Amino acid sequence: MLPEFENTEIAFQYRSNSALKRAHFLFSSMASPLISKVGMSMTQLSLKWKLPVKGLIKSTLFAQFCGGETMDEAAQTAAIIGKYGVNTILDYGVEGKESEDDFDKAVPEFIKAIKYAATNKNIPFISMKVTGFARFALLEKVHAGATLTEAEQSEYTRIFNRINAVCQAANDNNIMVLVDAEESWIQNPVDDLTNAMMERYNKTKVVVFNTFQHYAHSRIGYLKKSVQHAKENNYLLGAKLVRGAYMEKERKRAAEMGYPSPIQPNKQATDNDYDAAVLHCLENIRHLAVFIGTHNESSCLKAVQYMLDHSIPAQTERVFFSQLYGMSDNISFNLANSGYHVAKYLPYGPVEDVIPYLMRRAQENTSVAGQTSRELNLISKEVKRRKL
Ligand SMILES: Cc1cc2nc3c(=O)[nH]c(=O)nc-3n(C[C@H](O)[C@H](O)[C@H](O)COP(=O)(O)OP(=O)(O)OC[C@H]3O[C@@H](n4cnc5c(N)ncnc54)[C@H](O)[C@@H]3O)c2cc1C
Repeated sequence: MLPEFENTEIAFQYRSNSALKRAHFLFSSMASPLISKVGMSMTQLSLKWKLPVKGLIKSTLFAQFCGGETMDEAAQTAAIIGKYGVNTILDYGVEGKESEDDFDKAVPEFIKAIKYAATNKNIPFISMKVTGFARFALLEKVHAGATLTEAEQSEYTRIFNRINAVCQAANDNNIMVLVDAEESWIQNPVDDLTNAMMERYNKTKVVVFNTFQHYAHSRIGYLKKSVQHAKENNYLLGAKLVRGAYMEKERKRAAEMGYPSPIQPNKQATDNDYDAAVLHCLENIRHLAVFIGTHNESSCLKAVQYMLDHSIPAQTERVFFSQLYGMSDNISFNLANSGYHVAKYLPYGPVEDVIPYLMRRAQENTSVAGQTSRELNLISKEVKRRKL
């Protein structure tokens, strides 16, 4: 039977009345483009001027979208959603660091998270960004195929070693690593590094996943090549499928620099490739594990329908569904309730360091053309049902 995404009682069972009211207030505010825009600018200015806004952010956006400031706080959140069969992906949400010292420090931080996750049955995954271990400009240079100086070559070797140390720890502790996709102009080295890790660690189980952004028209072809490569070289592919989060930035850069946009011509084209990618992975499930990272109900339902039609059990270790913490609980909790593997991306870290992540969440929940978001409709429905 297909899961029912309209059930808000199941969707929000982990939320107390006060947390639900806070979510209602937050999504109502974000629904207004004006409030959202003013709020985001004021937040950024206040942080720049070192005004005391941390408490306010922590009790609003941060509480909705993040697990806590520390791993222990995140684990408490993981335990709450774990009670309802929803697992956690620990996401150390710090972004924008650029020094070798920061990159070196990130390695033990990730290994600590892996060891911590290994002691917690609700946390089977961690996620990482290659830019957490590497200078963006160097990745850009490698992507462009430029010749590296000797110093740059050793810098690149250090990046490889950092990522390898994290993946090795994940392998040793039976934790899976999701490597996020970022801007297209650094994607080649991200693919190369992740492929090297998959070949090394995904021999008998899937430890490492690469991410495929299907708003880029070239990615479906690359996904198919990756499946083929895994088959021919006797390892399992880890395929994390998303639509992609940097569309405006991608289009803007392409227009400014005068090259053809890597982005699909319209939303339908992205949706078509996304669903085709899920299908291709499910058809080749013997050779891979697929991680369906989406808030799109139709894509989730199509995947479930295929699994039902082809007798792929809900509890297979090869198919995972995932949404971000604080969003699309109707999908996550109803899928988990029907027995599917579901995990929430749970960012954690100091409030000031996760601001870029929070701003992306605020932006994507701002209403277009005055429509009430699906999220707000569902929260309102549950507020009414609970007679709050
Ligand atoms: C668990 C998880 C992990 C994620 N990890 C990553 C990651 O590593 N890297 C990353 O980039 N993003 C990541 N994302 C974000 C993701 O890429 C999407 O931005 C977000 O999930 C919205 O897409 P959707 O599939 O949920 O739903 P939908 O709301 O159906 O799709 C919205 C998406 O469609 C695409 N789109 C919208 N309008 C157009 C248009 N006019 N033309 C072409 N395409 C269009 C955009 O990608 C947009 O984000 C992740 C999301 C989740 C849930």
